[in-house]
Amino acid sequence: MTAHNFPDRRVPALKDASLLVSQAYVAGEWTDASGGKTIPVTDPFDGALIAHVPDLGAEDARRAIDTAHAVQKEWAKRTAKERSRILKAWYDLIIENADDLALILTTEQGKPLAEAKGEVISNAAYIEWFAEEAKRIDGDIIPGANAGQRILVLKQPVGVCAAITPWNFPNGMITRKVGPALAAGCTMVLKPAAQTPLSALALAVLAERAGVPKGAFSVITTSEAKPIGEEFCRNPKVAKITFTGSTNVGRWLMREAGDSIKRLSLELGGNAPFIVFDDADLDAAVEGATASKFRNAGQTCVCANRIYVQESVAEAFAEKLAAKATSLRLGRGTEEGVTMGPLIDDRAVAKMEDHLQDALSKGGRVLVGGKRSDLGGTFFEPTVMTGITQSMKVTKEETFAPLAPIITFKDEEDVIAMANDTEFGLASYFYAKDMARVWRVAEALESGMVGVNTPALANEMAPFGGIKQSGLGREGSKYGIEGFLEIKYVCLAGM
Ligand code: NAD
Repeated sequence: MTAHNFPDRRVPALKDASLLVSQAYVAGEWTDASGGKTIPVTDPFDGALIAHVPDLGAEDARRAIDTAHAVQKEWAKRTAKERSRILKAWYDLIIENADDLALILTTEQGKPLAEAKGEVISNAAYIEWFAEEAKRIDGDIIPGANAGQRILVLKQPVGVCAAITPWNFPNGMITRKVGPALAAGCTMVLKPAAQTPLSALALAVLAERAGVPKGAFSVITTSEAKPIGEEFCRNPKVAKITFTGSTNVGRWLMREAGDSIKRLSLELGGNAPFIVFDDADLDAAVEGATASKFRNAGQTCVCANRIYVQESVAEAFAEKLAAKATSLRLGRGTEEGVTMGPLIDDRAVAKMEDHLQDALSKGGRVLVGGKRSDLGGTFFEPTVMTGITQSMKVTKEETFAPLAPIITFKDEEDVIAMANDTEFGLASYFYAKDMARVWRVAEALESGMVGVNTPALANEMAPFGGIKQSGLGREGSKYGIEGFLEIKYVCLAGM
């Protein structure tokens, strides 16, 4: 493995420099691309070059899949306790190295260091959780349909899994997939986002150190996602694809993988409503909306996309949210006190500007923000808008940026109809005290997850995932391992 030196002097030194690598991890070997092709990894703070990683192709993915296929049976034969021990060792190493992993993450992705460390630690918990769940993959014994029969239900690993992950949570979206896959006895070939491959490679260094067998986990870095995606979808040795990213790419994968009927888990886009009723604790709702909307500069699949506030409290809420938005400190994620980083790239800024202009042209008003930050680059001021309606892009599409659009509503029926008027169904939030209302609204909202008086939904003990066009399957909880298991029924006769 080639350790990499940051060419950019301003990047803080790691405690363990071997976690920053400039080679990919394919079939148990640290490798370069044939012909030496590389992709640059840059810091979204100022575009400075951080490192180069190999630009691999479909043939490298095929090699990783072949090896993953060859070692999967052996990995599945190990006792659950052995797999569990190795996963627990991986978890421990991630926690020990959380500071370094957070530095790598912030440098390639831009989010504040405290958020990065939070991502590393809270998502490592999925590995710890599934290390335990490995020991609880139990089946059933069912009475037979005829005399002398018993029905056995066994759960077996699906086989080789391919994972594709996005840049917004470069560490966490990986651990919550690889943890349950390895726990179930599957092997995994991962393609991380081209913008953020260094977090994935650092996790692979620690997986190798923890004793994950060579070839059971590969990381394919590439600038061209499509050929790798096609290989994952068409290679008969891949049994399952697990994807986190946009709904459009999820749709494409579903079509491509359809020919060979592959198992699919899809964590896709969202358009979360965040509803504030007039009986809510307004300050708690403002805190919640600030965390939900501006964390990771609004680049979070479960972040509040549309903020609905009941008429009588709308003005007070908007003023308080505007004050919170202006109190955020933008800057380099590694700087002390910074609470919001840059957007990932120019395309993200263009989308924010497009949604903002569309809202302005249809009668929306900017309360605070509304322009690029003086810091330049891809920084955008946290923005709060009022006068928003259901016909604007900000309410119809996922903005994925620090834009908080406020829509007022009259009553419960009115707001539920507006909240559900979307093809997405990932997360919803509402703030209210009346318990009858809490039950009614939680049951009526069409989404896989509902936060009541809280903006925080993801943890390893809960089933994370969406309905409608936000996806298929769940990550975390006892349900999270099911997508990596097949059910086999054995009919025992003559008993
Ligand atoms: P994206 O779909 O463009 O990219 C995600 C990943 O897919 C990247 O690794 C990319 O390289 C890869 N990819 C793109 N085209 C591909 C192809 N043809 N074949 C194989 N791989 C391909 O999404 P993004 O912009 O990187 O991420 C943001 C999106 O992800 C948002 O829509 C967000 O809501 C969603 N997301 C969802 C969750 C969730 O849990 N539901 C979590 C995080 C992000």
